[in-house]
Amino acid sequence: MDWADELAQKAVGPQVVNDSKTPSGTVHVGSLRGPVILDVITRALRAQGIQTTLLYGVDDLDPMDAQALLTPDAIEREMGRPLAHVPDPAGDCHASYARHFGGIFIDVFAGLGINPDRYYWMSDIYPTGAMDPYIRLALDGAALVREIYRRVANVQHPERWHPLSVICPTCGKVGTTMVTDWDGERVFFECRPDLVTWARGCGSSGWISPFGGAAKLPWNLEWAAQWSLLGVTIEPCGKDLSTAGGSRDRSDAIAREVFGREPPLNVPYEFLNIGGRKMSTSKGRGAAAHSIAEVIPPEQLRFLFLRPRPNQAIEFDPEGTDAIPRLFDEFDRFAAATAGREVKGELSPGYEATFRYSLLDPVADVAAEAAAFRPAFAHLALLLQVPGVDVTTRIEAEKGSLLTDRELAILDERVAAARAWLDGYAPDAARLAVQRDALPAAADALGPEQRRFMADLSAAVRRGSPLGGDAWQAAIFASAATDALPARRAFEGIYLAFLGRTSGPRAGWLLASLDQAFVLARLDEAAGFVASAAADGGPA
Ligand SMILES: [Zn+2]
Ligand SMILES: [Zn+2]
Repeated sequence: MDWADELAQKAVGPQVVNDSKTPSGTVHVGSLRGPVILDVITRALRAQGIQTTLLYGVDDLDPMDAQALLTPDAIEREMGRPLAHVPDPAGDCHASYARHFGGIFIDVFAGLGINPDRYYWMSDIYPTGAMDPYIRLALDGAALVREIYRRVANVQHPERWHPLSVICPTCGKVGTTMVTDWDGERVFFECRPDLVTWARGCGSSGWISPFGGAAKLPWNLEWAAQWSLLGVTIEPCGKDLSTAGGSRDRSDAIAREVFGREPPLNVPYEFLNIGGRKMSTSKGRGAAAHSIAEVIPPEQLRFLFLRPRPNQAIEFDPEGTDAIPRLFDEFDRFAAATAGREVKGELSPGYEATFRYSLLDPVADVAAEAAAFRPAFAHLALLLQVPGVDVTTRIEAEKGSLLTDRELAILDERVAAARAWLDGYAPDAARLAVQRDALPAAADALGPEQRRFMADLSAAVRRGSPLGGDAWQAAIFASAATDALPARRAFEGIYLAFLGRTSGPRAGWLLASLDQAFVLARLDEAAGFVASAAADGGPA
């Protein structure tokens, strides 16, 4: 990947790469783009010999502001409280709502080969007092902060507004409080019933010390304070935060003017659009990362995010389409090219780095991985639907030798993915119902030229057995050309003779997945039918 290696070449001195996330609910697949980019930057820096720390934060003092995952009786009580203080909705498997959902995304990251050196939880950091110096700077600089919001984002806070959210000592909510005064040691706070629409404060107010975990900074200030506290030098962020006057601009200005430190390098990245819909964490729609992970193994998922540059949006529509088989095919093409084999079609420059960074193991033997035998996904999806096929034996026959342990692991992973794809994503055309017992009735529609093609294909296969789907595909094209039959009509003939319909999966792979003796018998039957039918003066 040119961009990450370029970035790494420009870096000077030790680097701290950081990102953080509010653990508000299930992780959607689109929200994995950032962590994958973070991981690749870290790998690229380390490959340059640069000492690099990868951090990932959980912003778990953020208020609960989405009631979708709360039971009705919990909404009034929990909305507005810090996520770290809301009970685990899944029962008592974790200490809090935040730990439950934070745990899910940590597991997803680990499954993708992303292993930060440290996860930090803001609910752990505030009580240590480590944030107190930034709270003090923010309160002392309240007028400046208000001016920054006005100047950078055109947001007008009231004159008495101070950049701090107290955790209400009465009701425990953080999303409902406003600080209106600061005497150098204590703040005056109000817990307002009407501050936000999604949570109701209890109405209490008073003077309180804001330190040691009693309060948290608002998001833009907390973000900038994290950079100072942790020494962050690189922090990519999504395009929605990177717009002019947006969150990143505000935090950059606060970092410089309030906390006196240059903000980290930004690498803005675009969204993943699933079926044309923008995927973001807060909208609560689209595919959950853990369910996509069942059908797209980690290396192909990393590849999905890494093939385009960060500033390019990704369009991905896995339901009822061939998008997932195509993703595997592209991965395999990048692997083949990396192994030095000739591949069809254009390849983006840096394909070798894209392949390398898609691998799960940062220190994998790239050449060995690239050279490993990988059965085509669509071919596996067909084989799995043919009764009585020993997939491993069949794939070893196509490879021409036994699979290595690594290749067996790849095969197992792909078989599981192909099954999940057939169960939940595949278009009807990919579903195979080979009519094994007899020539389907629909084959009556075969024309004489299609039957002649069947006979020629049968003869060609008897002269030399094609090995694998590509070879079968080539044999189909060759026989069709011999008979001057358009390829489309040849494919249609095969679908009629084997499936009893006029469309289907790639015909070469279909025939390759079936027992050759059966294929020959069926071709002969379909071809022979013309002779007897012709003798009768036409198909009956
Ligand atoms: Zn739990
Ligand atoms: Zn309150």
